[in-house]
Amino acid sequence: MKFPDFSYARPATISEAIKLLSGNDDARPLAGGQSLLPMMALRMASPGLLVDLGLIEELAVIADGDATLRIGAMVTHDTTARSEAVARRTPLLRQALHHVAHQAVRNRGTLGGSLANADGSAEMPVVAVALDAVMTLQGPDGVRRIRADEFFQGHYTTAIGEGELLTCIDFPDSARSWAFEEVSRRPGDFALAMVAAGLQIANGKCLNASLVIGGVSDRPIRSESAAAVLDGRTLDRAVATEAAQIALDGVRVRSDIHADARFRTELAKNLVVRALLRAGGAND
Ligand SMILES: Cc1cc2nc3c(=O)[nH]c(=O)nc-3n(C[C@H](O)[C@H](O)[C@H](O)COP(=O)(O)OP(=O)(O)OC[C@H]3O[C@@H](n4cnc5c(N)ncnc54)[C@H](O)[C@@H]3O)c2cc1C
Repeated sequence: MKFPDFSYARPATISEAIKLLSGNDDARPLAGGQSLLPMMALRMASPGLLVDLGLIEELAVIADGDATLRIGAMVTHDTTARSEAVARRTPLLRQALHHVAHQAVRNRGTLGGSLANADGSAEMPVVAVALDAVMTLQGPDGVRRIRADEFFQGHYTTAIGEGELLTCIDFPDSARSWAFEEVSRRPGDFALAMVAAGLQIANGKCLNASLVIGGVSDRPIRSESAAAVLDGRTLDRAVATEAAQIALDGVRVRSDIHADARFRTELAKNLVVRALLRAGGAND
């Protein structure tokens, strides 16, 4: 299908991009185009102006800083997956990227585009919430920073305001050992369900656990109560199964053409168990 008509701008700086986006409801940032362009072709989106961020060099930098690993919004999935700093400091991000689409999509798709797109079945939002990432937004009224668990507000809905750009994402170092588990219909498809589990083991006991589930709802779900039940326990299959039950309790799991709610719930529980056992160093 042909694209609807649109105008196109390719600014070289963040401030130029913000100027183009501000006060124009019809303008949309264009990152890798791997979600926005198909949506336009399908007439699910028809922006009058595409503001291509591809020339803005400062958005495409990975900064291996003292306090955090900062990834620019325009860093591609492929560059992120190949980064030595990412492998060292945020191995969970690298694990999850193996599940994102296919190489051709990863060559163009970006971290910022994936987070701003906020698909409820996408991997990067789950990782951002699990790792307590902080998003930097820049707009006509200046710069603000927002935590990942406040950034995602629903399927395709985020805290990005009018005229604002997501410029970079800060990942603080994590002392936890992490595991990411996902099931999709085919390799590279969006997830039916996925889980990021992180924990520490001290004297054989589990502490500081963190559990985030994706693909079952319109945004990543962090389960504080499931994490709490693990505290001070010896991690085994029975304990992980108890945590999985609690994690999915009361969650309104969605049904769609790919899987109904019951199937997704059971899938997610199994993934919680597998991810917890892997994070704890036990074989499943
Ligand atoms: C065949 C196929 C399979 C895929 N499979 C998966 C998968 O399994 N898992 C997965 O997670 N993704 C998958 N994707 C999507 C892919 O990961 C995209 O890269 C990602 O969703 C969007 O990134 P992008 O850079 O292409 O953004 P774009 O498509 O350019 O933009 C997406 C949205 O974000 C906005 N936006 C982009 N950058 C910014 C910014 N800096 N600030 C504010 N708003 C911004 C745009 O205006 C647009 O609304 C798949 C895509 C395809 C085509």
